[in-house]
Amino acid sequence: MSDPLNTVKRRVRELDAYSLRPDRARIKLNQNESPWDAPAEIKQETLRRISLRPWSRYPDFVPRQFYERLAEFAGWQPDGIIAGNGSNEMIQALLMVTVGEGKRILISEPTFLLYRQITTVLGGDTISVPLTPQLTYDVNAKKSEIQSSNPDVTIICSPNNPTGCVIDRADLVSLLESTRGIVVVDEAYFEFSRQTVVSLLRQYPNLIVLHTFSKAMGMAGLRIGYLLAAPELTREIAKAILPGNLNLFSRTAAEVAMEFYETALKPRIETIIHERDRLYLGLQDISGLTPVRSQANFMAVRSAIAPRCVLEELLRRDILIRDVSNYPMLKDYFRITVGKPDENDELLTGLREIFSERYTVADWS
Ligand code: PMP
Repeated sequence: MSDPLNTVKRRVRELDAYSLRPDRARIKLNQNESPWDAPAEIKQETLRRISLRPWSRYPDFVPRQFYERLAEFAGWQPDGIIAGNGSNEMIQALLMVTVGEGKRILISEPTFLLYRQITTVLGGDTISVPLTPQLTYDVNAKKSEIQSSNPDVTIICSPNNPTGCVIDRADLVSLLESTRGIVVVDEAYFEFSRQTVVSLLRQYPNLIVLHTFSKAMGMAGLRIGYLLAAPELTREIAKAILPGNLNLFSRTAAEVAMEFYETALKPRIETIIHERDRLYLGLQDISGLTPVRSQANFMAVRSAIAPRCVLEELLRRDILIRDVSNYPMLKDYFRITVGKPDENDELLTGLREIFSERYTVADWS
């Protein structure tokens, strides 16, 4: 019998799996989640509504009512929306309908790893433009790459994971106008930057915007994300979506979350933004650390001590952060998610201890 693995595409076998160390800690600051569980009123109302609906029936093929509510919430039109199992599913679906052999996807790195991963699995080529040395978007470099390689899809993560930079609106417009391809703006963290490019959808039929309920909306466990684009585009992307991809429970929770957004969720977002700015100042005061200004609910931090060692030391204090030193340009960086105020205090205390004179840089070599 020949090796069954020979049937797997070579480019897939050569790829490292997208995975995460299974560490656990009391203070979890490694996945850019909300530090607070969903508010009790959202949970209770979701459970009440779900208990009244039949669980024996498939979800709607196209959840039209839900799309109408999402459209109002996001400021777009219902027939230009697809929702599903996290924005990851939306990234996969839009790449499935655009990427194949010979197709080129343009990204800036460092960025969210999944864009390159899925493009590779689907047989496409990823072209990467580095961020500037200040870890911001280099729009001129992106434009000249668009000119020379003529990509089919350009993906811009804004705010960018893991650096927190955003694309300037005028720069995005110039990219939308200079490419013949699609431009995807992944706004998984847009609430923390208080800006969105959704209003550009009306003018640019080659723009796709991605949002999620996993971050600011505090529902990562329920897996709800959505895509906004011109109806002509969503009709095509919907062909790569499995029927019933958004389960009844998650859909109901999303509906309730939108209703409670102003009262229960928005104040939390404001707290996170405030805490992010406080953390930045606190980290700046620790000798050996250089935080990167971020518009998201996380922050990349340059470290004089190897990120892997900082992670281990914080784990001993029951705090889990993310080592991003394997990302391009980020050899000396770790990433922290903004937590609750007391969690951020503990993080700062832990880092002050680790970086105090007791631990000289030489100790870690
Ligand atoms: N886009 C970005 C930039 C992300 O960081 C993440 C989650 N880490 C996602 C998309 C996926 O989010 P979800 O599938 O939970 O909506």
